[in-house]
Amino acid sequence: MAADLKSMNLDELTELLRGLDEPAYRARQVYSWLHKRIARSFTEMSDLSKGLRGRLEAGYDGCFLKIAEHLRSKKDGCEKYLFALHDGNVIESVLMRYRDWNTVCVSSQVGCRMGCKFCASTLEGCVRSLSAGEMLDQVYAIQKDTGERVGGVVVMGSGEPLDNYAEVLKFIRILSGKDGLNLSQRSITISTCGIVPDILRLADEKLEITLALSLHAPSDAKRRRIMPIATRYTIDETLNACGHYFEKTGRRVTLEYALLSGFNDGKEDAEALSSLAKNIKAHVNIIPVNHVPERDFARSDKGRIKEFQNTLMRRGISATVRRSMGEDISGACGQLRRSYLKQAVQYDTMTDTV
Ligand code: SAH
Repeated sequence: MAADLKSMNLDELTELLRGLDEPAYRARQVYSWLHKRIARSFTEMSDLSKGLRGRLEAGYDGCFLKIAEHLRSKKDGCEKYLFALHDGNVIESVLMRYRDWNTVCVSSQVGCRMGCKFCASTLEGCVRSLSAGEMLDQVYAIQKDTGERVGGVVVMGSGEPLDNYAEVLKFIRILSGKDGLNLSQRSITISTCGIVPDILRLADEKLEITLALSLHAPSDAKRRRIMPIATRYTIDETLNACGHYFEKTGRRVTLEYALLSGFNDGKEDAEALSSLAKNIKAHVNIIPVNHVPERDFARSDKGRIKEFQNTLMRRGISATVRRSMGEDISGACGQLRRSYLKQAVQYDTMTDTV
């Protein structure tokens, strides 16, 4: 396979171009086209010699993702992109428009092997991990397509980012680097189901990103019923690792908690969750679960969600309820890709397709 230039940092790119007998400043030019000016092909890199553009076009991969589907929510301005990768796989990314900035939710793998019982991404397992370039280009392609700056990135699409540790780290460093989009690390969140050794490793990377832990249950017994990772690491071990992350980075950890009706949404669940969150000064993000047709979990009703939040707040926990977005366009993780794979995309629910 052709070398993927978008996954290279400036040093690696400099090394590669030196091998092609190009002067050192060329690497800066190519890097800037890829990561700052967001070129969509090597051909448009107009200050490179024609000869070099031709060589790059013929022999290298620039990870210029192709938009296979583009859906826009009628309700809330949320947009879903389905991208085709060079090997025929497809991945999805989501653009969320908040009042002050746009946030992109990126996928880190094609599918996922973590097996959470309420999630659509994992139904067919993990096909492969994405390269840093393939993650970066989800952000770049969306910024280019909308013409609007991306102000935040959450690695909360399909896949487990810590199961693709090296490439995700590279992605964060390039995305936040001054020679690229220069996105503040404080505007980047990665969400993990809780791979403890990698959380500990991440704490030492000297990053300022936010870590979100998918907790979803306040006891090991309950968590094991919905998340296979809970059979490998206890909640205690996992939250200790999160506490360590907070100590090392000064960044408060977010605990994500999807409310599954009648399973984890009782008052006693909220009380137990409060104690866990308090110990590590975590923020709690309550997620009204998105219905996945293949799964039999239902969303808790509005009153129950509010009550759950109130119980946490009364105990001094900072708790927000995640706004559901794009429900009319295959809202839940991995659903658009699945409907594409099943060739059952319902065009009549969309206002726009590209
Ligand atoms: N693997 C990572 C990141 C991807 S999932 C993780 O586990 O955190 C991003 C978030 O969406 C996680 O909190 C995940 O548990 C949650 N999620 C998965 N399926 C969902 C669904 N059907 N409804 C609501 N949230 C869901």
